[in-house]
Amino acid sequence: MAISLTINDRPIEVPDGASVLDAVNASGTYVPQLCKDADMKAIGACRTCLVQVEGVRGFPASCSLPARDGMSVTTDGDEVRRIRSGVLELTRAMLPGHGSSPLVGEDSGGGYHPHPDLPPSRGKEPDYHQLTVAAEHHGLDGESRWAARTREAVDDSNPVFNLDMDSCIMCGRCAQACQQGAQFIGAIDFLGSGRSSRIGTFMDRPLIESVCTTCGQCLSVCPTGAIQVKTPPKETVRSVSTTCPYCGVGCGIKLQVNGDDRIVESLDAPENRSSVGMLCVKGRFGYTFVHHSDRLTTPLIRVGSKRSGETPLNPPLPRGDLGRFREATWDEALDYVADRLAEYRGDAFATLCSAKATNEDGYIQQKFARLVMQSNNIDHCTRLCHAPSVEAMLTSLGSGATSNSYTDYEDAGCLLITGSDASSNHPVAASRMRRAVVERGAKLIVINPRRIDMCDYAELWLRPYPGTDVALLNSMANVILAEGLADAGFVENRTEGFEEWRRVVEKYPPEEAEKVTGVPAEDIRQAARIYAKPPFSGSCLIWGMGITQHTNGTANAHGLLNLALVAGQMGRPGSGISPLRGQNNVQGCGDAGCLPNSLPGYQGLRDESVDKFQQAWGNHPIPRKEGLVITEMVEAAREGKLKAMYVTGENPLLSEPDLKHAREALEKLEFLVVQDIFMHETAEIADVILPATSFAEKDGTFTNSERRVQRVRKAVEPIGESRPDWEIICDLGRRIGRRLELPLEDEFSFDHPSEIWGEMARLTPLVAGISYDRLDREGGIQWPCPTPDHPGTPYLYAESFPRGPRAKFVAFDQGPVAAETPNKRFPLILNTGRTLYHWHGGTITRRVEGLMARAPELEISINPQDGQRFGVSDGEWIRLRSRRGEMEGRAVLTEQMRQGEIFVPFVRLAESAANFLTNAAFDPDSKIPEYKVCAVRVEKLEPEGASTSPATLRKGKGRVV
Ligand code: SF4
Repeated sequence: MAISLTINDRPIEVPDGASVLDAVNASGTYVPQLCKDADMKAIGACRTCLVQVEGVRGFPASCSLPARDGMSVTTDGDEVRRIRSGVLELTRAMLPGHGSSPLVGEDSGGGYHPHPDLPPSRGKEPDYHQLTVAAEHHGLDGESRWAARTREAVDDSNPVFNLDMDSCIMCGRCAQACQQGAQFIGAIDFLGSGRSSRIGTFMDRPLIESVCTTCGQCLSVCPTGAIQVKTPPKETVRSVSTTCPYCGVGCGIKLQVNGDDRIVESLDAPENRSSVGMLCVKGRFGYTFVHHSDRLTTPLIRVGSKRSGETPLNPPLPRGDLGRFREATWDEALDYVADRLAEYRGDAFATLCSAKATNEDGYIQQKFARLVMQSNNIDHCTRLCHAPSVEAMLTSLGSGATSNSYTDYEDAGCLLITGSDASSNHPVAASRMRRAVVERGAKLIVINPRRIDMCDYAELWLRPYPGTDVALLNSMANVILAEGLADAGFVENRTEGFEEWRRVVEKYPPEEAEKVTGVPAEDIRQAARIYAKPPFSGSCLIWGMGITQHTNGTANAHGLLNLALVAGQMGRPGSGISPLRGQNNVQGCGDAGCLPNSLPGYQGLRDESVDKFQQAWGNHPIPRKEGLVITEMVEAAREGKLKAMYVTGENPLLSEPDLKHAREALEKLEFLVVQDIFMHETAEIADVILPATSFAEKDGTFTNSERRVQRVRKAVEPIGESRPDWEIICDLGRRIGRRLELPLEDEFSFDHPSEIWGEMARLTPLVAGISYDRLDREGGIQWPCPTPDHPGTPYLYAESFPRGPRAKFVAFDQGPVAAETPNKRFPLILNTGRTLYHWHGGTITRRVEGLMARAPELEISINPQDGQRFGVSDGEWIRLRSRRGEMEGRAVLTEQMRQGEIFVPFVRLAESAANFLTNAAFDPDSKIPEYKVCAVRVEKLEPEGASTSPATLRKGKGRVV
């Protein structure tokens, strides 16, 4: 509905919900608006947009005044100009050299000029100009009548950016970005009042000691450069819209490139529907790895053929030590690989695809494995993160995808997050969850053995003992049934298997579950009530690897699905199930067919699907037998059945559990090809290393955790001689085809990834309606999208399920909590996970200076009482040992940990990694290893030269709210 009003007597119409400032802007009338960022809510902080409204007392800030029918607004009357001029003069006085007693010697007359010490543009036009224009428009020149403000010291405690109050005009954009406007973190806000007012942190401590996560949202909205990266970019010549290469949230980024073809900045993309203008520290500052000197730039061939035993396990070869390899041309390397791989077609061959690569890379790689190598031994890292979720969802619903969208988190009345440290792993999704709680009043329930940051926003925090999730979830379901909270209509009309399941959950009254899980019975009841009957809208169930990486991972995932089914919390806005995907393109990698049991689009190896693909792929035969998953590949290599592997963008010798065992197995391979952007533990034992391009050097698509297919766009030329994965694999496919006299040329001849997508879309009904043209025109599209005129699907299961009209309850009893439990020798339970400043094993983030500066060491979190028990003090360097290996790190004594439990992120730093300790025991249904539970002991250790932990790098507690 349109609103009609007048601006300086000129009639104007604006949509419902518009502000008076929107109407002023729509009318083409100029008023200053220094604190209004186009992407943020109005805050009325600078008060330079004030106007006069007939019948309204005073001079309201037009940005925060809703437009109403019949309003008569004046922007240029004498009185309103006089008041606004005063405000502008006051604002100018805040900047150095413009007060009545200039503090810095420079021209103080003739309008506003940026202070000579102010940094240049961050890539978008700085808004100093806005103040100049506003001042000139109001006839202001010369010195301000107001006294200059006392200057504060620059807060340079953050290793990435500075907070410099010299250039602050107190517009408040940064505080808003940090709080209600975007990220809901609360690290900075206005401190003090009157002339001493300024931006600062809780208790006025250095920024580094606050809850600041270095997301840089403040910096992105600062109009004057008061918040600025330490080394600002000098100039940019182009901006390329693409997608963040880190986590499955799939934020839009705009890479700024300079004249030397180097990326110099990463900006947020307000138009991106997944990230809505937000980024986390990795998306904003984590791009520098692209130009790191460690990049692999030329093909490498191992000198000598014997690999086994050439390098010790720990420590491995120093990174970048290429002494055992010689450089080769692409022709030489690919001919060699083609000759060797041609010997291993069939079951002796396996390939690991990359969930960091594009959909097009993945599609080509599985096509290569099936068509050229005649093998379905194809897998990717989902096996190590969400295989149980996929397994359970396929059984119960018929699809392994997230059912809803991030917008549903903001619409929900209840968010239940279990086994996920969302603010570390999926920071921008976590911001949207915080928005739901703070702005909408949604109830947040956290289930986690560790006290994670999201607990600060939680209505309830349930802290089960590790491995007891089945009992807890069954008990919540028990309460829902006992208290009549079930959605009877949903259960009756849309599910099956209810009676059998009910008989199982009846055995889990809360008092019994409390004995197993340690969660108070009343908390279990409360959680069940809130989840089943949220205060408004629906409930979203969100989970991570704390649910899946257990020997009972599939049972845990079924426990969650059963809850959603009995409460009817799916198939409508504000509800749904979300297994938050880890890597940027885990969803897409599975969609593209990088799985041992299905072709692209989850088309199983049934005769009709195989026939369809054979026909489309030149009538060449493809195997029908299900292939090996990654954990089985390792065993097959150890047994000598698997002889050759082609690994792209993965590092199994860091990501596999029980690394010693995994290394022994992979060293038995007769031929190993690794294709990646950096040297890593697996590449070190390869026969050939092929240099691939990073996300920034190629075109393609990623599919994020909410099933949104988004464009990846080439920003810079490939580094060195590196080539996109799809291009290398196509080249290899053609070469092997020639050797074997197979007519495969046409199957591996593409000029651009859009052609690969075109082929995939033609064969994959889920994405058949998505094209590059549409993505470029409309932005990301959520599958299923079966036809070119289909808008995409924000949420699934509104009417039916892929398995049919009914979803299935699947009952599980609580089994043994873990394959390995503590004993006298190994008395502590180790839990592993991610950390905000690193990504997975850290192969990439170790090469990002800013991230390393924030998290330079591997930190081992221990409860203070355990510290006392084992004689470990905070900041001490210690060793952890399990039955399989050892690692070292810095002890952090923290109440976040329960007594008897210990936490280590699984990044590899200083040659230590948690996976030297973890257990390879796996969940029988999904084959996921039990990364989340193993038994360890602590040993004291103080290596020579080890320093005390830099306490300032630890996150403080203070939140400014
Ligand atoms: Fe990138 Fe994930 Fe951070 Fe978004 S939340 S910027 S996708 S790492």
